[in-house]
Formats: sequence, structure tokens, C-alpha cells
Amino acid sequence: MDTIPGKVETGQLKPLFEARLQYQSDKETYDLVILGSGSAAFAAAIRAKELGKTAVMTEMRTLGGTCVNRGCLPSKNLIEAARLVHDAAHPRYPGLTPAQLGIDFSALVAQKDEIIHEYRDQHYASIIDGADEEGPNPIQVVQGSAVLVDPHTVEISAPDGTLHQLSGDQVLIATGSSPLTPSIPGLDDTPYLTSDLLTSQEEMELTELPRSLIIIGGGYIALELGQMFARFGSEVTILERSGRILKDYEPEISLALTDILREEGIRLMTHARVRQVSGNTGEVQVTAEVRGQQRHFQASKLLVATGRRPNTDGIGLERAGVQLDSQGAVIVDAYLRTSVPHIWAAGDVIGREIESQMVTPVGAHDGGIAASNALAGANRRVDHPVIPRTIFTDPQVAVVGLTDEEANAAGIACQCNTIPLSIVPRAGAIRDTRGVIKMVLERPTRRVVGVSMLGVNAGEVIHEAAMAMRFGATADDFIDMIHVYPTMAEALKIVALSFTKDVYKLSCCAS
Ligand SMILES: Cc1cc2nc3c(=O)[nH]c(=O)nc-3n(C[C@H](O)[C@H](O)[C@H](O)COP(=O)(O)OP(=O)(O)OC[C@H]3O[C@@H](n4cnc5c(N)ncnc54)[C@H](O)[C@@H]3O)c2cc1C
Repeated sequence: MDTIPGKVETGQLKPLFEARLQYQSDKETYDLVILGSGSAAFAAAIRAKELGKTAVMTEMRTLGGTCVNRGCLPSKNLIEAARLVHDAAHPRYPGLTPAQLGIDFSALVAQKDEIIHEYRDQHYASIIDGADEEGPNPIQVVQGSAVLVDPHTVEISAPDGTLHQLSGDQVLIATGSSPLTPSIPGLDDTPYLTSDLLTSQEEMELTELPRSLIIIGGGYIALELGQMFARFGSEVTILERSGRILKDYEPEISLALTDILREEGIRLMTHARVRQVSGNTGEVQVTAEVRGQQRHFQASKLLVATGRRPNTDGIGLERAGVQLDSQGAVIVDAYLRTSVPHIWAAGDVIGREIESQMVTPVGAHDGGIAASNALAGANRRVDHPVIPRTIFTDPQVAVVGLTDEEANAAGIACQCNTIPLSIVPRAGAIRDTRGVIKMVLERPTRRVVGVSMLGVNAGEVIHEAAMAMRFGATADDFIDMIHVYPTMAEALKIVALSFTKDVYKLSCCAS
């Protein structure tokens, strides 16, 4: 297959794909055919190239997938802008005067789109069209919707309607996930936003700041976006069906974060079962049963953030013999092999299979492993139990390993302690004592099996815990390790100490 010379410039991706399509012959054969072009797909394609093999990705939407185009990158970009607005209006230090920063939402959206384009060019487009293109196995991408027509053949319907086929000795399913739409009366006839609202140059992009917003859901996307919009000035109502937000996290974290969000002015309702929605592009109505009572809510926009589901519908998996679990995720073994020996899967499309998580670094890590196993017989297993993850609320939530409840369910005899961050010197020094940290220890070994933290820089601190857990660390390893003073990472040492000491009576440096 030929490639188009020259670096891809911002906005040139579509013409590039179209140009490439003209160079397609009817059926081409590759060592690895990949469905998707997100983080998992790219990692696999790069690995294939390193192994001297040929690989082709397919993409029906935008090169690079969810993370760069409508997920991690745009959300973290705008969340930080909202934090600046909030911090200016609420300085933590007496002596600093609150300031109202002006907000030009269209300009914020425009810079977000620019960042997306730059990042996509740098980290995705340049890889398929960059310096390596002269090499023996340039990484290929074909635009169009891919379907497995037999276990080795993927048929692509290009945007211009033409069909062509790619044949793969090995095949990788890396089609990612999409917003999950719950079954709510009236939803089909009511305009609503999804987590795709941060996308760029697509219809579902939100370009105006909503005056008010109702969010259905209490998971990480609902909370990150809810706090962000509230800080930009929208009136935000969050309706969560269960008894607490982040229901799979430690209850201490959920409850502390609930208080923080409510203090910021977010109307956060738990035990809220949405019964009916209606409305138009300017105003929506939601009826919910909240703790048994019928309540009516009204806002200018509705955001449905009730989770994400693997993209496995209509891509020929059943025909090829690939088995799915009850959530529609591709079933894989610890080597990322599906029920069909030469078909592999990685990224969001495997959902929570083999203790995976639907986050970018897992997909990127596993995509490379899948390619090594498929193309080089590497026999590498994935190591999912120790994956740190972060929710980018302010303060951040970061967790690794098991919660108290999960450890018990796994039959691990354990003990847990939770401490408030107000006793961490750094938190006091910078006047931000919001949050808690909880540690779960196996008994009697004192091996750390889980850590959950809500607090400043939790997303950075959690890496120490994750690395320690990879090496089977005990609470004593955290205690003996000299931590930089004063840092938020000292929270780990203090919570480890709390199992044996009164940590409210420590001198400097948690000693
Ligand atoms: C709002 C939001 C914020 C997020 N924030 C974070 C974060 O901070 N940190 C983090 O780690 N993760 C975050 N995530 C999750 C992260 O984006 C995903 O876990 C990750 O992008 C999944 O990568 P993937 O390669 O599995 O799939 P994707 O990136 O979704 O790629 C799959 C690609 O396959 C394409 N495709 C699907 N079906 C077909 C087909 N039949 N033919 C051709 N192409 C097809 C899709 O168009 C898509 O581009 C966030 C997600 C959202 C929505």
C-alpha cells in the first residue's frame, strides 16, 4: 500500500484518509488487521512495526479514538481552566482578594479544539505519516466502518460508500466503547448530551455554556464534568440512582467528595431514580423518584452520563465465533486472546474482563501485549490487579488495588484504616485539608492490598502506592521509607502508621 508523503497538518486528516483510499486495491493481506485506531490500536500497530510485521488500523470516526478527541485530553484541558476560575474566586489564603475571572466559553472551546488537533497530529497522525513512512512497514490506517466478514477478513465501508477488504493473519479488536444510553421514558424524543460533548468538529460538540444542567449518573465522567460546568457558572444538578456517588469506591471517599461538591453549590441527589424526561434544545424536564418522593427538575440541558459500553454490536464478532460477556464485552484470557485463537482484543472493548478498566493507559499497555502475543508468540500475561486510576475532580480521587469490600469478597482477611488529610503537614501548610486516605492491609502479613485517596495531588501520590504494591510492600515499607517533607505522599506513610500509632500525636515528618 502506498502512503501520502509529508506531515499531516491540523485539519488535514480526512483528506489524508480519502487520498489513501484511492491507493487501496480490492483485498490486501497484513500480519495484523486492527479494528479501531485508539490508544489500544496504536500501541498494537507500533509494536507490530517494531517486530517487523505489517499492520493496518481501521477508523470510522476520528483518528486516535476517544482519549485524544473527546475524552481524557479535552476534559482535563477544560477542567483545569475551571479550577483556575474557581481558585481565583475562592482564594484559600486570608490576604488574597477573591477575583471573578471573565469566561468566554467559545474561546475556551476553540483552544480546547486546537489542543486536540495539535496533540492528534503529534502523537497519532505523525506516527502513521511521519519519519517512519520510508521504513519497510509503514503503519497504515484505512477510514471506514469495519466488519468481520469471516474470521480472517475485515470489510471496510468507506465514507464514499465503496467497500473493500483487508485480510489478516491475526486480528485485533480495539473498537473502544460508547456512551451507554439507559432506557428512560421520553429520552428518545428529548435532546441530550453525552460524554461526547467535548469532541471537536462533530455534531455532538457543546459550544455554548449551558445556563443549567441536569446530569443523570454519578460516576467519574458525571462528577468531573459536573464540577467543571458548575465552576464555569452553570447550575448543576446530579441525579444518582444508588445511595452514593462512585458506588464502587470506598464509602469514605464517596461521602467526603459528596460534601465537597455540595459545598461548591452542586445539587447532588442520591437515591434518585429518573422516571421520565422531556423537552427541547432549550429546556428539559426530568421527573425522578428521590427517596420515594416524586420530584421535578428543569434545566437548559440534559447530560446522560450513565456509563460506557463496549463497541461490539454489528461488527461480525458472533459470525467470527468471538464470544461476548453479559455486558457485551469481548471475553479474553490473560493473554488477551478471544475465543478464536487468532483474534485478540484490548482496550475498552474488553470492559471489565480479567479485572481490566476502561481507561487509556490500560488499553495502550494491553494493545502492545496483544500484538506481541499475536505476532511473536510472546506469551505475555496482563497484570490488571495493580492499576492506579484517578478521577480528576478537585480534589482528585485516586485508587489502586482493592477496596475493603472487595478484599473481603475475595476472601482476604484484612484490616483497614482511614485518616483525614488534615493531619498531613503539606495539606495544612497549603491550607487545603480536604479529603481522606484509606489503606487496606492483608492480615496478618500487613501486605498492602489497596489504597484510596481523595485529596490534593492524589493522582500523583497513588503511583507510590501502586509501585509498592507491585513489589508486595507491607505497611512497614511505607513507614520505613523516608518521604520528602512536606508532601502529600506523606499521607501514605501516616495512614500506614495509623494501624499501630496514634497519628494525631506525631511530630514533624510523621515520626
Ligand atoms: C469524557 C471522558 C473522559 C475520560 N478521561 C479519561 C482520563 O482522564 N484518563 C483515562 O485514562 N481515560 C479516560 N477516559 C477513557 C478513555 O478515553 C478510554 O478508556 C480510551 O480512549 C479507550 O481506548 P481504546 O483504544 O480502547 O478505544 P477508543 O479510543 O474508543 O478507540 C476505538 C476507536 O475505534 C473506532 N471504531 C469503533 N468501531 C469501529 C468499526 N466498526 N470500524 C472502524 N472503527 C471503529 C472508534 O471510532 C474509535 O475511534 C475518558 C473517557 C471519556 C469519555
